[in-house]
Amino acid sequence: MSLIAKVTSSGPQKPLGDVLRVPLGIDVWEVKPDHLILRGTEAQLDRLSRMGYLVEQLEDVARHLSTFAAEAAEQYHSAASLEEELRQLAEAKPDITQLIEMGRSIEGRPIFALRIGDRRGGVPKILFMGCHHAREWIAVEVPFLLAKELVERADEAPIAGWLTSGEVWVAPMVNPDGHEYSRAQERLWRKNRRRNDDGSFGVDPNRNYGYMWGILDVPTSSQVPSDETYVGPRAFSEPETQAVRDLVGCERFAGVITYHSYSQLILYPWGYTDKPIPDVQHREQMAGMAQEMQTLIQGVHGKIYVPQQSSALYPTAGDTTDWTYGTYGIPSFTVELRPRTFQEGGFILPPDHILPTWEENRPAAFRFVEQLLAVSVA
Ligand SMILES: [Zn+2]
Repeated sequence: MSLIAKVTSSGPQKPLGDVLRVPLGIDVWEVKPDHLILRGTEAQLDRLSRMGYLVEQLEDVARHLSTFAAEAAEQYHSAASLEEELRQLAEAKPDITQLIEMGRSIEGRPIFALRIGDRRGGVPKILFMGCHHAREWIAVEVPFLLAKELVERADEAPIAGWLTSGEVWVAPMVNPDGHEYSRAQERLWRKNRRRNDDGSFGVDPNRNYGYMWGILDVPTSSQVPSDETYVGPRAFSEPETQAVRDLVGCERFAGVITYHSYSQLILYPWGYTDKPIPDVQHREQMAGMAQEMQTLIQGVHGKIYVPQQSSALYPTAGDTTDWTYGTYGIPSFTVELRPRTFQEGGFILPPDHILPTWEENRPAAFRFVEQLLAVSVA
């Protein structure tokens, strides 16, 4: 896994989408109408060339990391510093918060959710999650900053009103083992740290959920343990997804947003099929909410986050939002944060983007909470 390449079609008989159906074991970073950005070995890229695609090597991974990853780690949370700061938030406002250990990772790290609300059991409840994928560090920071703001401004309108009737739950780091590995060993690590039967490491937590789990075998949802999107041996085989399963099963959230990076997208179900969700009302509700989020996000710093059905990016079976919507009917979104392209850093977001990324996502997150509160009050 050492090269980053741009792949384009050589003609109408070679549609780009076909690359995403060939079981090559490549790591798909970016999908745009006219090109793909992939990470792969020389042999994998050669095979794509031989199949008739135009493959342009952009950079080797080491050079990419040296350009973008220098000195950034201290400005992002580690599992330990996140725990510390979540504890501080909980201790600062014990009357409205509760720090809950949802479960433990493969390596025994606690997975935390901060419950924020005036009383235990208030409804509705909204869940924000981050960092299913280890290398997507900004996906920890945005939900963490959301929790921080809700706690610190809990007495101000409109937050005070929300917390009176309902609860906001924030779990900023679902995959702490992978995140630590990404900090200490391999910046571009994606999966958890399961040791697989074939000796390879990692299951993709965002392919391990139990709705339409394992029905695909493609590079973006793979049955091969060493692949970046390995779905695992069975649905909910991983303690990280079990923790989310148990929390969602128990709390019955009215809305779920899960943060990822990168590409600046707002994705809604389905991921497992190109077909739209059959319930017209749900479909229109989610498409409408995504559209509104786009407008709100763009209004802050002018960044465009494109709303679309998840499968329009690439096919995925067993992802979080297919499961939360498919099993419980919860309006569910995957927000792919900054940057938009590989050229802007890809997974390595310069730390001076942390705050602006949160700022632009704040009104969309707030609107989500507000809308779902109104739905349930009505
Ligand atoms: Zn991701």
